[in-house]
Amino acid sequence: KGPDPDLVAIGERMKSIKHKILVLSGKGGVGKSTVAAQLSFALAAMDKQVGLLDIDICGPSVPKMLGLEGQEIHQSNLGWSPVYVEDNLGVMSIGFMLPDPDEAVIWRGPRKNGLIKQFLKDVYWGDLDYLVIDAPPGTSDEHISIAQYLKATNVDGAIIVTTPQEIAIIDVRKEVNFCKKVGLPILGVVENMSGLQQPLASFEFKMVADDGEEKNVTKEVLEQLQTRCPDLLSVFACTEVFYAGGGGAQKMAKDMGVPFLGCIPLDPQLSKAAEDGRSCFIDSQCKSSASALQRIIKKV
Ligand code: ADP
Repeated sequence: KGPDPDLVAIGERMKSIKHKILVLSGKGGVGKSTVAAQLSFALAAMDKQVGLLDIDICGPSVPKMLGLEGQEIHQSNLGWSPVYVEDNLGVMSIGFMLPDPDEAVIWRGPRKNGLIKQFLKDVYWGDLDYLVIDAPPGTSDEHISIAQYLKATNVDGAIIVTTPQEIAIIDVRKEVNFCKKVGLPILGVVENMSGLQQPLASFEFKMVADDGEEKNVTKEVLEQLQTRCPDLLSVFACTEVFYAGGGGAQKMAKDMGVPFLGCIPLDPQLSKAAEDGRSCFIDSQCKSSASALQRIIKKV
């Protein structure tokens, strides 16, 4: 029996793509698509030629996150053409194929696998520096196929996104073991929504002394910190929104021998950028999440 012609075709198609990064998560709703979308925006802003492929077939959120709702894909003799946000940022998603965004995709495994295969084989990206792939959450039948298809290419590996709670991290352990079993390299784990950060300067805390004198504590704390650390640019108050009794993603990554790429705070402005289909890197309000994402990208 000769080599699988589909795998050969995927390998051929991916030859013109330098780096392929898969974004995975154990659960839905942890920010996988947000990380995939913002990573693509960031790479494109670094003048890289970028493709973002959304194969989260049952919940394609990439069109909205890239500001491309209602767009359609076209076919040329070279294959399916992505929809372009910028000249150097192309996007492909099943969301572009659904006549109604509220329509549920109720497909059985083989049909989903067929479409994923077609996306990998038939989209004409041209020469790319990076292809970022937003995968479905979990470790389903589709993941076995995705891993098998991507092994036909020299895939760089997977970024696994989680939130801090033990309940999410249990599923990430499964995801890590899955990758190890199917031979998919792990680029690292990202902890998203880890703490709500707000600039301390935006708070006004009052402290009342015994003699009734009222003091503005924040200002004093900031002044003390600035005297001690003159290089300090900003100070944040951080609220742990989720209970992370198990020690969080960093400890889990260490225990399982995979790299930890960093934390992204819970940032209402990042959520707004995602809702509006914008890059958080050009939004001065998104400073804390954008700089966290930049630090993560440097490690990938
Ligand atoms: P997933 O792809 O894992 O299902 P999404 O990326 O769709 O998750 O994110 C779920 C929701 O959480 C979205 O509304 C998104 O805007 C929001 N979100 C993700 N990460 C953050 C964050 N760090 N701060 C605030 N909101 C976030």
